[in-house]
Amino acid sequence: MSDTADKTDILSLMPGELKAWMEENGQKPFRAKQVYEWLHVHHAGSFDDMTNLPKALRQTLSDSFRIASLHAEEVLTSLIDGTRKYLFSLEDGHVIESVLMRYSYGLTACISSQAGCRMGCRFCASTIDGKARDLRAGEMIAQVVKMSEDAGERIGHVVIMGSGEPLDNYDNLVRFLRIMGDPDGECLSLRDITVSTCGIVPKIRSLAGEGLPVTLALSLHAPTQEKRERLMPIAKKYRLPDVLDAMKEYYERTGRRITFEYSCVEGENTSPEDAKLLADLVQGMNCHINLIPVNHVSERNYRRPDQAKIEAFRRKLEKRGISVTIRREMGRDINGACGQLRRSYISAGKAPASADADGES
Ligand code: SAH
Repeated sequence: MSDTADKTDILSLMPGELKAWMEENGQKPFRAKQVYEWLHVHHAGSFDDMTNLPKALRQTLSDSFRIASLHAEEVLTSLIDGTRKYLFSLEDGHVIESVLMRYSYGLTACISSQAGCRMGCRFCASTIDGKARDLRAGEMIAQVVKMSEDAGERIGHVVIMGSGEPLDNYDNLVRFLRIMGDPDGECLSLRDITVSTCGIVPKIRSLAGEGLPVTLALSLHAPTQEKRERLMPIAKKYRLPDVLDAMKEYYERTGRRITFEYSCVEGENTSPEDAKLLADLVQGMNCHINLIPVNHVSERNYRRPDQAKIEAFRRKLEKRGISVTIRREMGRDINGACGQLRRSYISAGKAPASADADGES
C-alpha cells in the first residue's frame, strides 16, 4: 500500500473539522474556508493547486492529508441513450460501480455507498460476494465529481442506488449529504438527492431527525412480510409494519414524499392479488411507487414479468389512486445489472474480493 494510506482523507472533513485542525496547527482559521473551497468548489486534485495558500501550509497539508482519488478502470457508454457506467478503483484496489444518466432535467449520478454489500437481497448482484468495506464520504463525493468532470457538465441529481446499503454506512452517508448540500461546498440541493434503503429501521428514524431533506426510497419489493422475506433476508430483522412506520415518521418529520421501489420478479410479486395487497398496504400514504423490471443476474434465476403484466400491475395501482411509474431502462446495451461489472473484475482476479457476506449482524 502507498505511503498515503495512513493519512486522513481531507475530502471527508466537515468545515468545522478543518477549522479545528488549522487552529491546532497554529494556522489562521480562515485558511480552513480556503482549503474547503479548493476541495469542494474548484475540485483541486492536489495541495499544490491551492495557490492562495502559503507554500509551507501546502506542504504541511500534504504531509498530513490525502485527497481521495478514484481511477476509472473502465467506462462503458450506451449507444442508445449515452448512459455511462464507470468502474472506479479505490486507493486500496477495491472497485465500485457508478452510473451517469441523462434525463430531460439534466444529469443524474447513481453512486455506490459501499464496496459490495452484506444485505443479501436475492436478486441483486452487488451482494453476492458480500461487503468489502464502507466508502468514506470523500469517496462518495469523488464519484460525483469524477463523473461531472468527465461529462464536462454539472450533475443536478444524485441517487445512492449503486452497490451497498447507505444506512449500513450511516455516519459516512450523513457526512456526504452535509457536504453535498452545503452552499459553501458542493452546493447541490438536498431535495435532488435520493437515498435508497432496504429498510434499516433505527437508521431511517435517525435520518428523519438529521434535518436533511433528502428523498428516501424504500426497497419494498413485496406486499407481505412472508413474500418480502423470500426476496430480502434483511426483512426478517426489520419487519414490514415497523419499516412502514419508520417511513411514515420520515415523511412526517421531513415533509418529503416517500418513494417505494418495487422490483418486479416473475412468479414472486406481480400477480393481481399482489397489486391489491400492495395498494392496501400503502393506502393513505403520500408516496410514489417505482416499478423496476428485475434485471437478470447470471448467478440467479429471477426473471422479469412480460411488459403486459407489469403494465397491468401498474394500472391496478393507478386505479386505486396511487402514483406509479415503471422505471425507464437506461443504457440497455451496457446493462449488466448493477454490480455485475464489478463482479467480473473480481472474478478475473483484478480486484480483491470481500469477506463479509453474512447479512447484518
Ligand atoms: N441498498 C439499497 C440500494 C440498493 S440498489 C437498497 O436496498 O435500496 C437500488 C435498488 O435496485 C434497490 O431497490 C434494489 O433492491 C434494486 N435492485 C438491485 N438489484 C436489482 C436487479 N437485479 N433488478 C432490479 N432491481 C434491483
